[in-house]
Amino acid sequence: MTTERSAAAPAPPEDVDHTVVAGALYVVATPIGNLGDLSPRACRILAGVDRIAAEDTRTSGLLLAHFGIQRPLVALHEHNEDRIAAELVRQLQAGQSLALISDAGTPLISDPGFALVRAARAAGVPAYAVPGPCAAVAALSVSGLPSDAFLFAGFLPPKQAARRAKLEQLGREPRTVIVYESSHRIADTLADLAAVLGPQRPVALSRELSKRFEESYSGTAAGLQAWQAADANRGRGEFVLLIGSAGQTADLAEGERVLRLLLRELPPSGAARLAAEITGAPRKALYAVALRLAGENGENKDNGDPD
Ligand code: SAM
Repeated sequence: MTTERSAAAPAPPEDVDHTVVAGALYVVATPIGNLGDLSPRACRILAGVDRIAAEDTRTSGLLLAHFGIQRPLVALHEHNEDRIAAELVRQLQAGQSLALISDAGTPLISDPGFALVRAARAAGVPAYAVPGPCAAVAALSVSGLPSDAFLFAGFLPPKQAARRAKLEQLGREPRTVIVYESSHRIADTLADLAAVLGPQRPVALSRELSKRFEESYSGTAAGLQAWQAADANRGRGEFVLLIGSAGQTADLAEGERVLRLLLRELPPSGAARLAAEITGAPRKALYAVALRLAGENGENKDNGDPD
C-alpha cells in the first residue's frame, strides 16, 4: 500500500514520534496515580523539550526524577498563567520547544493550561497532544453508564445551595454527566445528589483510579450513599462521580421490578443479567441493587459480578 502526502501536509504522528519539533508546544498527560501510566512517548517528549511548564514544580520534579528526566522547569498555575503565557509563546516563536504538564492527568482538564494553549494557537504555534490518563474518561470507561455521549462538568460548587442548583440543572441533561469531587465534600455531595435527583437515579463513582485502593460503584444514588457509608475508607482519596440521565431512571425502576421477581429463583448475578436483558436497564446497576435486595433478605449467595 502506498500513501500519498501533499508537500504542505503536516507529518503524520509516527514521523514525529521520536523527535521534538523546534518551536512546538506539547501538552503531555501524566499519571493520575499509577506511575506505570506515563507513556514511553510522553517520557521521550519530556526528556527532549527545552523546557517544561508544570503546575507545581515540586510535584512534577518528583515525577520527572523518577523517570530520570532533567529539564528546566517553569511554574505555570492558575495564579500566573495569564501573565506568563505571552512570555512562553514568545519563547516558542523564537524556536524553543515546551512541554506543558499538570500535577496529574491531562492538562486543561480541571487543570491549568488553557490560557497558554489559547495564546499559542492564536500565535500560530504548533501544539501537539501527547495523550494519556484522564480521571473523567477512565471513570466513564468502567462506569457501565452510557458512554456514547457525555458531559464533563468539572467540580461542583462547594456551597450547598449552589451545588444543589447545579445538580438540578445537570439532572436534566440527557447525556451521562461526569464531575470531579474531593474527599472533603464527597459525603455532602452524595446526600445532595439523592435529595435533588431522587434515590433511584442511576449513578457511578470511582475512587483512587489506577491506585492500590481503586474501587468503583455503579447503582442508584441511594445505593451509592449506603455503599460509601458502609466503609470509612470509601470517603478517602480522589473521586469521579457520574450521573445517568433521567431517562435511565425509568429503565432502572422497571429493571428493579423484574429483578425482584427473578431473585425469588436466581442468584443476584443471574437475576441481574436477565433483568438487564429483559428491560434494557444497566446490568451493573441492577447487580448492585440485586446484592442489596438479596442482603436484605439474608440470601446473599452469589457467584460474582455478572461481568
Ligand atoms: N487533569 C486531571 C485529569 O485529567 O483527570 C484532573 C485534575 S483535577 C485538579 C483533580 C480531580 O480529578 C480530583 O479531585 C478527582 O476528582 C479527579 N481525580 C484525579 N485523579 C484521580 C484518581 N486517581 N481517581 C479518581 N479521581 C481522580
